[in-house]
Amino acid sequence: MKASQLFFPTLREVPSEAEVISHQLLLRAGFIRKASGGVYSYLPLAYRVLKKIMNIIREEMDNSGGQEIMMPIIQPKELWEQSGRWELYGDEMFRLSDRHDRFFALGPTHEEMITTIVKNDIHSYRGLPLLLYQIQNKYRDEIRPRFGLMRGREFIMKDAYSFDIDGGGLESMYQVMMQTYNRIFARFKLKFRMVEADSGAIGGNESHEFMVLAESGENEIVYCSACDYAANVEKAEAADIALEFCNEEELPLEKMSTPNKRTIEEVSKFLNVKENRIIKSLLYFADSNPIMVLCRGDRDINEIKLKNVVGSKELTLADDGTANQILGASFGSLGPKDVNLPIYADLEVKYMQNAVCGANENGYHLINVNQKRDLSDMFFADLRNVAAGDQCPNCSQNLFSIRGIEVGQIFKLGLKYSEALDANFLDSEGNTRHMIMGCYGIGVSRTMAAAVEQNYDDDGIIWPLSIAPYQAIVIPVNVKNEEQMQTAVLIYEELLVLGIEAILDDRDERAGVKFKDADLIGIPLRITIGPKSLQSNQAELKVRWEKEISLVPIAGIVEKVKTILET
Ligand code: ATP
Ligand code: MG
Repeated sequence: MKASQLFFPTLREVPSEAEVISHQLLLRAGFIRKASGGVYSYLPLAYRVLKKIMNIIREEMDNSGGQEIMMPIIQPKELWEQSGRWELYGDEMFRLSDRHDRFFALGPTHEEMITTIVKNDIHSYRGLPLLLYQIQNKYRDEIRPRFGLMRGREFIMKDAYSFDIDGGGLESMYQVMMQTYNRIFARFKLKFRMVEADSGAIGGNESHEFMVLAESGENEIVYCSACDYAANVEKAEAADIALEFCNEEELPLEKMSTPNKRTIEEVSKFLNVKENRIIKSLLYFADSNPIMVLCRGDRDINEIKLKNVVGSKELTLADDGTANQILGASFGSLGPKDVNLPIYADLEVKYMQNAVCGANENGYHLINVNQKRDLSDMFFADLRNVAAGDQCPNCSQNLFSIRGIEVGQIFKLGLKYSEALDANFLDSEGNTRHMIMGCYGIGVSRTMAAAVEQNYDDDGIIWPLSIAPYQAIVIPVNVKNEEQMQTAVLIYEELLVLGIEAILDDRDERAGVKFKDADLIGIPLRITIGPKSLQSNQAELKVRWEKEISLVPIAGIVEKVKTILET
């Protein structure tokens, strides 16, 4: 491709709306343009990267027995009513109606659709197992579309669904998909980690996420220094261990005046007790029922764990006015003594002695609170966010934390959709059974952004070779110099003959401008033909992620490029 013809409208300025580096660079380098919040067009360079990502996914999915299909984006409401998700999906679902007032969803995911297709045409165990996948646009009206392609409202996803005859079948399918995903992300040449995950709204009982490691990631991952335990904090299990100060003599309960001391930090300073000696008390609504939730003062409640434990559809933190109505005090003075509500407490609360908590009276706290002696019955469960420094639930060594971008997730769905939609088959003994399902997603457009988050410098993007839009760029320093231009064209054409994807920068621009553009769009290899090197029949070769420029004889340069690309 000649740069003079390539549509890559680069920008000088960093666009002000772009907070993260991938958003900034993809806009600046002319890869994407915004249509509306979370909705983008992919220009030629971006689409080339996306196609490479999609092709790697296709190859690996096909190798693992997947069959590619394409389902409609427009899905009738009736399908979603059968699974109960027409209601449950809430505002995140884009909905539309046709001229006959029939309602449809723009597919945020395709469990209902695929289950319907399979159940209508597969009736016997002979047709199973089955692994079907597609790559297409998905629609989710995210509350906060942001970070460019990272959290879009229209985005490209690979979604795959498996149907098996029994749990053993699903287990081996899940293992195969795990390995397939590991191969896919390794081929993208990204630093990533597979972690245990919560299965969220999709449902099911086991799930893993694939995280590209990057500071800007929206997810926090904890991992063990000694064993291979790694989990999204949303899911990471807390080890149930007694606290070091749990064998103290119980002191008499007292009420203390703590005027205007509301936060854990303020109370800790005022009473001169450590934050881990204070019981944090929160008021939530589980659906419409008020509940009290407790954890240690230096901990945070994990609302995903809480929701799973309580088993509610919705979980919301109450507001201060409601706290006053129900408990007679404001936030900051709430506590679990003499409270007539269901109380859910994090495991650590069990071991707290001579603790501090709010007195349910504004400006007062209780000290020397001992749970068994002073507090009503409560339900203990793992409710807190695990943090760096905590113990690994597998091997008790220290956990570390790191941030990641979720680029893929796999789920064991089990019977959730096959029961709701009656996806049955006859087994070899003639019994009717439900199919057992799994589903497996990869964020294709998010992966492109994640690759940039992990691979850039002050000059621009540094694409990994396997997904770079072009592999090499040939730059004649002065296009008006015939000898330089002819040599550049010759090298460019030889590259094309070898199947190397190359750009010839034939624009009549200063060399500096062309170098800047080549660096900004992140082409891995740059070959420069200038007056000096030409004198000795050489060209400059620069690898995007290395500092040095090497001089290579023109006669051997194409071979040299080929060798670099093959290693
Ligand atoms: P998230 O937790 O980030 O909202 P999710 O768990 O809802 O994502 P899945 O339903 O697991 O997403 O979708 C599969 C993959 O699609 C995700 O792993 C992610 O890479 C990608 N994805 C999900 N939502 C978006 C989005 N709004 N924009 C871009 N990619 C997305
Ligand atoms: Mg997910």
